Amino acid sequence: MNDADFAVGDMLDGIEAAQAAGLAPLKVNMVVKRGTNDQEIVPMASHFKGTGAILRFIEYMDVGVSNGWNMSEVLPSAQVVGRIDAHFPLEPLEAHSAAETAQRWGYRDGGGEIGVISSVTRAFCGSCIRARLSTEGKLYLCLFAVSGHDLRGLIRGGTSDDEVATAIARIWEARGDRYSQLRGSASVQARENAPRVEMSYIGG
Ligand code: SF4
Repeated sequence: MNDADFAVGDMLDGIEAAQAAGLAPLKVNMVVKRGTNDQEIVPMASHFKGTGAILRFIEYMDVGVSNGWNMSEVLPSAQVVGRIDAHFPLEPLEAHSAAETAQRWGYRDGGGEIGVISSVTRAFCGSCIRARLSTEGKLYLCLFAVSGHDLRGLIRGGTSDDEVATAIARIWEARGDRYSQLRGSASVQARENAPRVEMSYIGG
């Protein structure tokens, strides 16, 4: 899915070119939106199975405010795994690290692996190490943050690298972000007037 009229064939060509250039392991992300593209889950799995690319299915999230997110359009990852397993039997794989966002599943026939990122139905804020730096030099500590921490002012003010590192560490240590765990709660609803940062602004 994209809003730039970019053809699927061109995207697939790009992925093949990346593999031919030796980029590995290549990860391909598919945001699943129920009723829009969930019929493509099994065809996508079939396409990438055995190619070495790791296809990762991401639950549709309420990032930013421009996508008109609705919970009814979220297809839980458990159903994604179930649909694929019915065609190509899967088995769970160990995580590479505690902070890994995707749960790994391997094809029982050795055809590679897939991942599911269950940001909505199985929040993993407790092990989250996500931070994004905007092109304006603002450090965002959560994909759902409403504001960032200004690093540009520090850097342009002549602050040394060590002092910037110390400032970043201090910001990180004070972090309490856990939006996905609080989604739907009163505290999140209370801040609905403050627009969340758009994913396109901080990088996916
Ligand atoms: S909601 Fe924020 S804190 Fe939780 S996993 Fe996502 S980015 Fe990390």
